[in-house]
Amino acid sequence: MRPTCKYCGSQAVEPLHLLSFGEILRCGNCPMVFLVPSDCRSTGSLYGLHYFASQDARFGYRDYLGAELAERRCLARDFVTIIRDGIGLEPEATVLDVGAGPGLFVSACNAAGYKAEGLDRAPEVAALAIERSAAKVHPFSIEAYLRTPPINSAARFSLVTFFDVVEHLEEPADVLRRTRQLLGKGGAVLLTTPRFDGDLYRSQGDDYVQFKRDHLWHFSQTGLQRLLADSGFSTSWICSAQDLVQVLPGLSRSFHEKYLVRRDHLFALGTADGAFVCGRRMQAVAQKQ
Ligand SMILES: [Zn+2]
Repeated sequence: MRPTCKYCGSQAVEPLHLLSFGEILRCGNCPMVFLVPSDCRSTGSLYGLHYFASQDARFGYRDYLGAELAERRCLARDFVTIIRDGIGLEPEATVLDVGAGPGLFVSACNAAGYKAEGLDRAPEVAALAIERSAAKVHPFSIEAYLRTPPINSAARFSLVTFFDVVEHLEEPADVLRRTRQLLGKGGAVLLTTPRFDGDLYRSQGDDYVQFKRDHLWHFSQTGLQRLLADSGFSTSWICSAQDLVQVLPGLSRSFHEKYLVRRDHLFALGTADGAFVCGRRMQAVAQKQ
């Protein structure tokens, strides 16, 4: 059967990479690049505890709660620096972290004075977050949470964060569109995702480190902006790690090592109603664009 674009339905798709677990296709009608077939089941089974201690280099983390833990904690604090000093999120603001894992970012947010909670689709991972760091992590995928009125009816967040999440979602535009109902006035979404159109991809080709079984989408800057626009968000700013470290000199050595050397990510802030007032430092980034 002729493949079609998973995003816009166009048949104008071209093969880019044939991998052992699927094929990477690019749409000629929209800016999306995606994996077929997708083997990402919408159950917790794929993202259980084994996801955080995976033997498979093409899947999950090697030792998130062991050898990588100190670095992960450091990066969680860096992301708090981004929302506090970069975005200028006020103290006591409410934050929902989607795909919270063991709750390191939720915990770091709370330590910095925010009211943060998280979602993780694997119940045992959410339980671990509560057990290890008293982080309030609900055992839900974002899709299930958006369908669960008793839990989310009172939820109105200042910021919903998706760190390395959108590339895993079957229907990212649908999820982001419905996430708007979780935002209070002036609320925003903060996204990070691997950048597809960067030097790292160009130098690695078929061996690109982000070609993984659970990465269903590969976003260029144009693709990520299109995703935000189609979901009803204005892109307040979108930038690389290089831009971030220039305006936030306090970011750690781990952040530099991970995002300037080993990985290449996009960071973007989407605002739902334009009322979100971005911090001065990120305004400087936005003005550069
Ligand atoms: Zn398309």
